[in-house]
Amino acid sequence: MVVELISVGTELLLGNTVNTNASFLAEKCAALGLSLYYQTTVGDNFNRLEETLQVALNRSDVVILTGGLGPTQDDLTKEVAAKVMGKALVEDTHTKERITEYFNKSQVKTITENNWKQALIPEGAIVVDNNNGTAPGIIIEENNKSIIMLPGPPNELIPMFMEEIYGYLNKLQPEIIYSQIVKLCGIGESTAETMIQDLISEQSNPTIAPYAKVGEVHLRVTAKARDEEEAKKLIKPVVKELKARFGNNVFSTDENETLEEAVIKLLTKNELTLTTAESCTGGMLAARLVNVPGVSEVFRQGFITYSNKSKRKILSVQKSTLKKFGAVSEKTAKEMAKGGVFATDSDLCVSITGIAGPDGGTEEKPVGLVYIACYINDKVTVKEFHFKGNRAKIREQSVVRALTLLRECILDVYNK
Ligand code: ATP
Ligand code: MG
Repeated sequence: MVVELISVGTELLLGNTVNTNASFLAEKCAALGLSLYYQTTVGDNFNRLEETLQVALNRSDVVILTGGLGPTQDDLTKEVAAKVMGKALVEDTHTKERITEYFNKSQVKTITENNWKQALIPEGAIVVDNNNGTAPGIIIEENNKSIIMLPGPPNELIPMFMEEIYGYLNKLQPEIIYSQIVKLCGIGESTAETMIQDLISEQSNPTIAPYAKVGEVHLRVTAKARDEEEAKKLIKPVVKELKARFGNNVFSTDENETLEEAVIKLLTKNELTLTTAESCTGGMLAARLVNVPGVSEVFRQGFITYSNKSKRKILSVQKSTLKKFGAVSEKTAKEMAKGGVFATDSDLCVSITGIAGPDGGTEEKPVGLVYIACYINDKVTVKEFHFKGNRAKIREQSVVRALTLLRECILDVYNK
């Protein structure tokens, strides 16, 4: 079943109004398993709307129009739909009564003549009551096609859609759509995609769609089926294959689980305590960890050691290290991680030191150079990164990579 959206309104074309209706409806159509190939925005112009609607009806089974159902001259959606379908506009008594009722209840007591325009309905159409305004929704069904017209204001459209239209579309399209996520870290999007190129190119149902996040890649496996049970059956072997291919890079298959939650779970499971030692991220890593309820079981302390002095005093970074290699160096990162463990007597410490910019970079140590180290079981692992982007982006990537390194180091020791 192919559905298409037409958003009507010159204010949308001018950019005065953000087209939130389109994103709302598109998301709902996807959840219903409807295929949506086109979205068009057209101004309040009779001829252009007529042409747009005709094109849409030629290529789609269901056309949803939003906006232009109101009482004013520029509201002409149903007039256009009536013309395209060869229907006359007739007065709907039920709607007329509802409009009278609506005005009686509201503060505005005078009904202007143009309000009755909203009671005009294309002959034979289904009227959908509007509980939050005066313009009803309208459905015209003909030759196995449906035109659904909905009011423009989101506070009228959303409830009307959820109460009446969702069920209507669901009946037209009995298939459901169900998806599961496979979340990866420590691997780039293009590498991940290359590793499953064969699966992607031969896919039909379920489909696999990769999405890149900061430091993460999410693979969404989506199946169309009669019911959830059947969809799950289709998805299961694909998720199994993805897990086999990506191994330890898979940190979760739970829609709502974050990377920090997965890391904390791992720490808890292995009864490990953690300390963080941050320079350029200034506590962002600790803050992300502390977002997770129950973190107190595993999180011992978070240091923000921004100055050289604090790195020396709190984390026992050697004066000679700082002098010879600088604060942003492999050696400093290592000593910070080790110092964190010894200062707090925890099992692990992850440290971050880098140049977040925009100033402070040199040819040898450019902005975006970040060292992240992790100390566990008398062993320290350090990684060098060259991040792109502004200060905020560099710091955000540093945090994600620190969580990823932490996870790798724990798995390395406890999950061989
Ligand atoms: P009304 O009875 O208020 O005239 P209508 O059905 O005729 O409603 P429009 O006149 O096209 O709808 O739009 C009314 C208001 O609804 C717009 O000013 C805007 O605030 C909002 N609106 C319309 N279309 C959209 C959209 N696609 N996304 C978000 N808001 C919208
Ligand atoms: Mg209007």
